[in-house]
Amino acid sequence: MSDVAANLKSIQSDIEAVCAPFGHDPSTVTLVAVSKKQPDERIQAALDAGHRVFGENRVQEAYEHWEHRKGDYSDLTLHLIGPLQSNKTKEAVALFDVIESVDRLKIARKLSEEMKAQGRNIPCFIQVNTGEEEQKSGILPQDLPDFYKICVEEHGLDIQGLMCIPPIDEAPALHFALLKKLAEERGLKKLSMGMSADYEKAVQLGTTHIRIGTGVFGERPKS
Ligand SMILES: *Cc1c(COP(=O)(O)O)cnc(C)c1O
Repeated sequence: MSDVAANLKSIQSDIEAVCAPFGHDPSTVTLVAVSKKQPDERIQAALDAGHRVFGENRVQEAYEHWEHRKGDYSDLTLHLIGPLQSNKTKEAVALFDVIESVDRLKIARKLSEEMKAQGRNIPCFIQVNTGEEEQKSGILPQDLPDFYKICVEEHGLDIQGLMCIPPIDEAPALHFALLKKLAEERGLKKLSMGMSADYEKAVQLGTTHIRIGTGVFGERPKS
């Protein structure tokens, strides 16, 4: 078995172990394997192990990794998890199956226009800047009600959930709990939270998506 296959297996059994005492159904947790900056053979190893859900944070790199493979894997699901530049909206809508990083009004509008043009209504998550960090993208918690309303009512986006990346120097559980509360207030069922270092906590709190890069593929090679 490849390292990647073994990692996928071990994360899956971890998810099951963490879910059990909470009575969560492990099949409600989707592992988004973050393939950014990973060598092609590791990506292929994940596919060979039967994994089909992947995350990328840059549109162009996502094309390099996935455009030639889309035809071979009809059940592939690609998540955009990084900030989208408005001039890449068309390409993003053409390639991705879920946009997790809706993070500003201009992008919400552009996504809506492009989805209409391409006849694809792709499920979206709003990225929330739970730590209110200057350098991080995402909607501030206090701005979420208005932003959500505009996304849905003005732009017709299919907002299914919320995503966050907690500050590196704070306990992630507080941010996960806040994200969950914000989602529940809007009746949103999906949460994307938890990465390699903190996914167990996110699973405990009932996340539906975890985004794991190094935990699946190993360290990203320095470019
Ligand atoms: C890179 C990335 C991840 C994965 O990080 P790891 O620590 O490698 O698991 C998750 N989410 C986002 C938004 C990322 O950019």
